[in-house]
This record gives sequence, structure tokens and C-alpha cells, in this order.
Amino acid sequence: MQRRNATRPGENRQIAPRGGNTRGADKMELALPALIISMLIVAGLLARQRSRTRPEQESETPPPKVRPRGRTARVLEKLEPLPEIPTLMDLVRIEIAEEGIDEIPGRDGLPDPVVLKVFRRDEAVRMGCSHNAFEYRLAADVIPEDATEAEVRLVCPICESEGPGT
Ligand SMILES: [Zn+2]
Repeated sequence: MQRRNATRPGENRQIAPRGGNTRGADKMELALPALIISMLIVAGLLARQRSRTRPEQESETPPPKVRPRGRTARVLEKLEPLPEIPTLMDLVRIEIAEEGIDEIPGRDGLPDPVVLKVFRRDEAVRMGCSHNAFEYRLAADVIPEDATEAEVRLVCPICESEGPGT
């Protein structure tokens, strides 16, 4: 009798852990959806990462150029003809050709802008000379390619020695 009494509290004691187990089962019931949700999140992240990395791996051909739209496109339309407009150096070359500057002695090696500027600056030399024999004269010890406007003059050797118009 005493044994039964002794076992009963033991049984009672066994019930207590069982109650603990049911509480654990409650936790499992909560943990399972949480696990499923977290697995879904992980799967979603992996899928997103895969879709992100895939184009890079497959993009051996360059990606198509993004055509600007709206205001940007309108601005670019206005800007696109710009490269066809001649540069300042183009204009210099054109004027040099029109004036026949390349035929003037001493011109070789001098920078294009320099010969054009000197040609304009020394207009009086050209106009006051009837010999049509003027030439570019470079200051001493100056390399033609490095010459500046100040180091170059347009002169007529005949005018220099005999005076203009003779
Ligand atoms: Zn002259």
C-alpha cells in the first residue's frame, strides 16, 4: 500500500514532465510555421540572387544601349549635330588654304594658328609690298614648331634691302 502510494507521486511526477512535453509540442506547433516561413524567405532570397547573377554570367554580348527618353532625348537630339560643326583648328586650316599661306616661304614647321595670326597682323607688310616676295621670318634660336606669334614676322627681303615699290 505504501508502495502504491510511493509510486503514485512518481506517476504524478511523470505527469509533470508530460505537461512539459505538451508545452514543448506547443512550441513545435509554433516553430514549424516559423521554419516554413524562414525557408520560404531563404528560397526567395536565393531565387532573387540567382536572377541577379544570371544576366551577368550570360552577358557575353554587351547589354543593349539604353536609349534616353523624354527630356534627355530631346537635349541629346539638339547636341548630336555638334561634332559636325568644324573646330577652330578646322577653320584655321580652311583660311590658311584660302589665303595660300602654305605657299609662303618660311611657313614650314610653324604652327597653323601662328602663321595665320602673323599673316593677318602683318597685313601692312603684304599690302605695302609690290614684289609679292614676302616670307615668314623666325626669330633666332627658335624651333619653328615651338614658335609663338611674337617670334615670327612677315617680311619682304626686297623691300627690306631696296625699299617698297622699287
Ligand atoms: Zn616687297
